[in-house]
Formats: sequence, C-alpha cells, structure tokens
Amino acid sequence: MNALADVEVVIVGTGFSGIAMAMALKEAGRSFVMLEKGNEFGGTWRDNRYPGVACDVPSHLYSLKREPNPYWSHTYSTGDEIQDYILSIVEKHGLREHATLGAWVTAATFDEPTGLWRVNYLLTDGRAQSVVAESLVLGIGGLHMPHIPHIEGLHTFAGELIHTSAWPKDASMHGRRVGVIGTGASAVQVIPPLAEDAEHLTVFQRTPSWVLPRHNEEYSDRTVDRFRRMPRLMDLHRKRIRLTNDARAIAFDSHPELLKIGERQALAHLHNQVKDPALREALTPKYTLGCKRAVLSDFYYPAMVRDDVSLVTDGIEAVTPDGVVTADGTLHELDALILATGFDPAGSFTQLQLTGSDARTFADFGRKGLQTYLGISVPSFPNMFMLMGPNTGLGHTSVLLMIEAQVDHIMGLLAERERREASTVEIRPELAEAFMRQMDERSEHTVWKRGGCNSWYLDRAGRNRSIWPGSVSEYEKRCRSGSYVDYLFI
Ligand code: NAP
Repeated sequence: MNALADVEVVIVGTGFSGIAMAMALKEAGRSFVMLEKGNEFGGTWRDNRYPGVACDVPSHLYSLKREPNPYWSHTYSTGDEIQDYILSIVEKHGLREHATLGAWVTAATFDEPTGLWRVNYLLTDGRAQSVVAESLVLGIGGLHMPHIPHIEGLHTFAGELIHTSAWPKDASMHGRRVGVIGTGASAVQVIPPLAEDAEHLTVFQRTPSWVLPRHNEEYSDRTVDRFRRMPRLMDLHRKRIRLTNDARAIAFDSHPELLKIGERQALAHLHNQVKDPALREALTPKYTLGCKRAVLSDFYYPAMVRDDVSLVTDGIEAVTPDGVVTADGTLHELDALILATGFDPAGSFTQLQLTGSDARTFADFGRKGLQTYLGISVPSFPNMFMLMGPNTGLGHTSVLLMIEAQVDHIMGLLAERERREASTVEIRPELAEAFMRQMDERSEHTVWKRGGCNSWYLDRAGRNRSIWPGSVSEYEKRCRSGSYVDYLFI
C-alpha cells in the first residue's frame, strides 16, 4: 500500500453495493473503510420502512451469490426480512468494525502527485474528518434522495407530511384522513395497509401503474430444510428464477410487442379485481407495460375498490393547511399526506463534490452528462469506481447481479494495477464516449423511450441514463472480459 494512504479503499455507502464490495475486499485481504451517512447498514432497506414495503424480485435471486439464504420465508420478501438478511451478512463478515456510521461525505478530491483520494466527511456531532485512500468506491445507490414535488403550499400543510422513504417509526394512520400522492411501486405497496388503517384514504393519481398478479407463496419448512441441506438444489432454484426473469429483457430492449402478453395478464388482473367500469378505466394505463416500472400486487386493486378509498385523477393545484386542492376546485381535507413520489436519481451522484484530475468535476461533463464506462469508471477520475452508476439499473430482475459483476470488475482492476506496479488506473476517455453512444443508440428502440410515458429512467434531455439496455448475462460478460487495454495504468 502507498505509504501516504491511510487505507487501500474507501467505500461510500453500506447498502447492498457497499457490502458486496466490502466482502470482496475482505476476502482479498485488502484494507478498507466504509463511510455511511445513515445510522445503520442497509441503504434502501434501512430507509424504506413504510407499511407494506417489500421486494418485487424473488428472494432467492435478490440475494448475494456469495451469501445464499435457505431461510427466505416467501417467494418475495418483506423489507424487514431483507434488512435482517443484510445485517446477518454484516455480522458474519465482521464489516461493522470497518464502518463509520453517521459519516456524511462532503467532498472527495484526487491528488495527482500521489495518485490518492482524500475523502472529507462530517460526523453527526459536526466534527470534520478525512481519510486518504488509494481508491474510492461509490456505493451510494441511485434511489435515496427523495423527490419532493414542487406543489404550491406543500409545506404549509398542517397535518403530517411524510415521504415514503422517511417513514417515522411510530407513525400511525389509524382513524385518520390520509392522502397519498403517487401510484408508482412504493404507492402500490403502501396503499393496501393504509386503506386498512385510515378512516378514509384519498389516492392522487397522475399516471396509473401496470399491476401484475404477485402470487407470493410461503416456502414450506420442508423446502427450507431441503435448501439448507442441498445448496445445489437451492442454486438450481435461483438459476430457474434468473432464466425466467432474463427472458423479459428481450421484450423491454428490442421486442416491445412481446409486452402485450404481460399487458393482457395485467388487464385480466384488473378486470378480475375491479368491477366498476369507471374505476377500471381510470386505473388502466395508456402506455406500454415496462415503460415505467411494472408492479406486482394482489392487494392494490382490492384496496382501491373499498368504499373508504377514493381515487382522484384531477391534477393537484395546491396544498393548503387543510389538505389538497385539485384542478376542479375541490379541497380534499386530510390529516396526513404521504408523498409516494419517488426519488431524484441524477442528484445522487452530482450532490457529491468530487474532484478528479485536472480539477475536473462531474458538472464539467456539461450538457452531454456524466460519461462512464460500464457505469463504473469515469474519465479523469482515476482510481474511482461507481457501483450502480448510470445505465446499470434494471426494471426486470435483480440489481444485485449487476452489483456483483461490477465488484468483480473493480477487484480485477485493483489486482492489475498492483501487478503493473502502477499508482493509478483510469478509463480511456474515448471508450467511455463510445459506451455512452452505445447506450443512447441501444436505448432508442427500448420500451423506456418508445413506450409513451415519462419516468425517472430518462433524464431531463430524454436520454436513458438509468437502465441497462441489455441482458444481465451480456453485462456480466462485458465486466468480465472488459480488457485491461481499455484502461490506462500509470
Ligand atoms: P416512482 O416510480 O418514481 O413513482 C412516483 C409516483 O409519484 C408516480 O406515480 C408519479 O406520477 C407520482 N408523482 C411524482 N410527482 C408528482 C406530482 N407532482 N404530482 C402528482 N404525482 C406525482 O417512485 P417509487 O414508487 O418510489 O419507485 C421508485 C423506484 O423504486 C421504482 O421504479 C423501483 O425501481 C423501486 N421500488 C421497487 C419496489 C419493489 O420492488 N416493489 C418498491 C418500491 C420502489 P407519474 O407517474 O405521473 O410521474
């Protein structure tokens, strides 16, 4: 290790990305520290504690390959079960001793003469600290900065105002008049339990979601026991889920006509569960399935047909201390207002003050936006790597597969840098440019661009900067074979 460095690697974030990176570093015997703004490991699953929070990817695939878990209770896990799984990995691998929780990274600067990164952070008590490392890995995730909509008067609301990702531990909606803004993946999950609890629930919908049946099944004790005793059987189960999910990529990427099969399923689901033609019509999406994240729920439509639940499709004009005023002039009086309004994915990386070589910042990429190679490496940012960077999200299967491919790629680069006795590794700028061009070209015919909707998958210029427009297998292959000639080792 460079004698001027405190540690080989600084990892920012302790969600699945940071944890997967830390496990690989630990296994390789490399020194590292983890900096985490929150007060616990878990990322998304620590933050999103709203009633009903769960994962739409089957648990046996939504697990790290180095940490298969025979004990998953259902096909799809609840947020609590996933957070328990995460914490069990943290303890098993002794990651806690490497982490500083409550550490808000304020800036990170590359020092050209030494090839090292200085990472500055603030502790919760206000103390400023810094650490110097050979490499910087950003495992900060894309979906953690809440999108708070610009609605006139929102902050004058006199009742309780909650974003789904900041659910207060002791919040109770029992017997209250509750409003939910949004009908995306988080809303579809939070609405059924809120409908049970609230005196009246008002759902403000701008765009309906495609909702498919979930069929969540409990794993019997016998199955759990077999998975425990026969890891290869559990692995086969994982592979079968993966194959089924992978097949969907073809429809999203290049054959949207195949999405008609899913649309027919979703419409049948809607028809089975919602009998009122007007409500059914209001809940019917007018864009292609997959353009926005399709959701799985057996409880959403039954909640929407309840007498104590109203669907409001008139646009929101303003919020007053008493509730929400819609375009038709109605004041919907509320005691609590839930913002299920999603996240700001672009803000996630740009909010960090990162300074690379030649004093470059992410803002210097200007209108063409951040250039990356495989969503991992950024030109002019030597020895810095991103996990779940641009164009590596997925709408159809487990993002953990992408994270693991990225971790392996980074580990390969660190080993190669060492083998060559180089102090820096940096992606060739022309390769990042070519990669971004390819992302743009390949996104052109995808459902995300052609499906007739707006979503967080697209940036302000209408470019897909979120989703990987291919199969996971292709991404894994490119991460594996991403030849070292793509990089400059100095
Ligand atoms: P989202 O998909 O971005 O949905 C936000 C919702 O808020 C949309 O319905 C949006 O309407 C609405 N909205 C935003 N601003 C509004 C405004 N000013 N007025 C009215 N409505 C407004 O966010 P999310 O539901 O939190 O999900 C984000 C992502 O997290 C998902 O795509 C998924 O990747 C992940 N997630 C996954 C799961 C799961 O596994 N089941 C669960 C939760 C989240 P428009 O559609 O009209 O913009």
